[in-house]
Amino acid sequence: MSKRIQSIRGMHDVLPPASSMLRNIEHALQAVLQQYGYQEIRMPILEQTELFKRSLGEGTDIVEKEMYTFEDRNGDSLTLRPEGTASCVRAGLQHGFLYGQPSRLWYTGPFFRHERPQKGRYRQFHQLGVETFGFASPDIDAELIILSQHMWGKINLPQAPKLEINSLGTSQVRQAYREKLITYLQQYESELDLDAKQRLHTNPLRILDSKNPDLKNIIQNAPSLLEHLDDESKQHFERLQELLTAANIEYSINTRLVRGLDYYSKTVFEWIVEGLGAQATICAGGRYDGLVDQLGGKPCAAAGFAIGLERLAALLEETQLEEPIIDVYMILMGGQAELIGLALAIDIRGKLPTHSVVINCGGGSIKSQMKRADRSNARLAIILAEDEINNSTVSVKFLREQRDQETISQDNLVPFLNANLNK
Ligand code: ATP
Ligand code: MG
Repeated sequence: MSKRIQSIRGMHDVLPPASSMLRNIEHALQAVLQQYGYQEIRMPILEQTELFKRSLGEGTDIVEKEMYTFEDRNGDSLTLRPEGTASCVRAGLQHGFLYGQPSRLWYTGPFFRHERPQKGRYRQFHQLGVETFGFASPDIDAELIILSQHMWGKINLPQAPKLEINSLGTSQVRQAYREKLITYLQQYESELDLDAKQRLHTNPLRILDSKNPDLKNIIQNAPSLLEHLDDESKQHFERLQELLTAANIEYSINTRLVRGLDYYSKTVFEWIVEGLGAQATICAGGRYDGLVDQLGGKPCAAAGFAIGLERLAALLEETQLEEPIIDVYMILMGGQAELIGLALAIDIRGKLPTHSVVINCGGGSIKSQMKRADRSNARLAIILAEDEINNSTVSVKFLREQRDQETISQDNLVPFLNANLNK
């Protein structure tokens, strides 16, 4: 036998019931977005490599070592999108929606990064991203945070994630701070790990984001960017805090929070949970006022966040692995019953659109069909055999309640189900 082909490492099939949990999460989050007036945008999965190089910055993890980049048949360098913000800004510039009326957008789908696969870290993963354009003041930063907190409540996360915020100031401020940080870190150069040594001159702020516990002390004592903020960024950050307090949102300031990407300015934030190890951030975002300019547009205020959907699903897994509910399972004994049953099922699905009807396909004895009905987790079974056909009735057997079997006329089936399934 030839060798079986397996999926690519770090890229997973999502089987039921995990797939329905992911979909439930997506629907719940989308319902919240709808309530806040956000609209969906769909973007391609492939983009020109240059887009990510220019937006994320050469010294970032993603561009340095995580992108799936290849040449297509025309010899163009393409990249499977590692994140959504760059594509969204590209689309905004291309279609001209960044200026004039401000916009509130969201998207969801697969993203790709060549990382070491582990729990909560995959090579194909799913994000729900939110981006806003044309809002310069901190009220939108607060709205994004309030909106994301609303989402945690909507999906009943078993624990309340903790909010950390920070301000990165303007790029001028970061430039000045960068020099200070390099001088500080140089004193400990021999203690830095390889990653940090490489970043010392290319992207020293990223060292603050290191997850290496050996660097914790050095990072803890590093000069703080917050102390070097310009007046405008300081006011922006203070106002954000006032707004969060007014909205009753608890937060802590983490001066080491820098985010992995170059394009952030002013506000950055993360929602963090316990129990996912180093993969504790379920949502990360902030303001990126400089990115549009960097990608060739007139400056445009912008802020957003992205949620890692697999990490949310992992938190819900232990508490909410409910099988999807099927309402009706149709047991059909013989060829004539199959014809009548098919028509009845179509009628029920048409008239009761929120209820599900599964037909026993493939025949079988009454015993084996009953067994399948039971295993399907259906609430009730409808049985059509010779007697029922002769009398234009069906038998209804309740599978999840102590209740006698009933005989119902076929004409009366829809109202009967409507009354009994909506209880
Ligand atoms: P991390 O620090 O965990 O590597 P990141 O800073 O690279 O995260 P972002 O680019 O901000 O992550 O992506 C937003 C969110 O997407 C993360 O907070 C996380 O929940 C999720 N995420 C990022 N990378 C992965 C991955 N490889 N697998 C699963 N989820 C991911
Ligand atoms: Mg990462």
